[in-house]
Amino acid sequence: MTIRVLDILEETMADGPGLRTSIYCAGCAHHCEGCHNPQSWDFKGGKDMEVEKLLELIKSDEFSNVTFSGGDPFYQAEAFTELARRIKEETKKTIWCYTGFTIEEIRENPKMAPMLDYLDVLVDGPFVLALRDTQLHFRGSSNQRIIHLREEKEEEIPGTVKVIPFR
Ligand code: SF4
Repeated sequence: MTIRVLDILEETMADGPGLRTSIYCAGCAHHCEGCHNPQSWDFKGGKDMEVEKLLELIKSDEFSNVTFSGGDPFYQAEAFTELARRIKEETKKTIWCYTGFTIEEIRENPKMAPMLDYLDVLVDGPFVLALRDTQLHFRGSSNQRIIHLREEKEEEIPGTVKVIPFR
């Protein structure tokens, strides 16, 4: 199983708390006005990488947690679900995932919803230029929510939105 990957950032601090390995996938059809990364829209951009290879890279960094970004990982939900499942089964790492879909849309989609079982945090919703706020941590516009999906929450981050539990 492969994921179309545009870029991988190791030990980044921009995509969630602490050090993280960020997987930037190719492809996004949300086409938000003012998107920070329009070069990621092309589903044929980047290159195919085996889930196994990505897992190896993630596990090779003892300290970094993981972020899925893009593009939008939920357009490749099946492969990202497999990667997320393996990360949760084989490591103690947390996973943040960015998406232009809302959690409500994801939960209604049988192909996308299974990934939620393996994510720790979902940053959801499209970027809305009119709601852009440079003071926000880890997201671009105030409609986007940082949603904790699991009981074991990472430490609260000053300045982020209130945690919104859904189970
Ligand atoms: S969802 Fe993210 S990557 Fe996709 S168009 Fe919107 S801001 Fe850009």
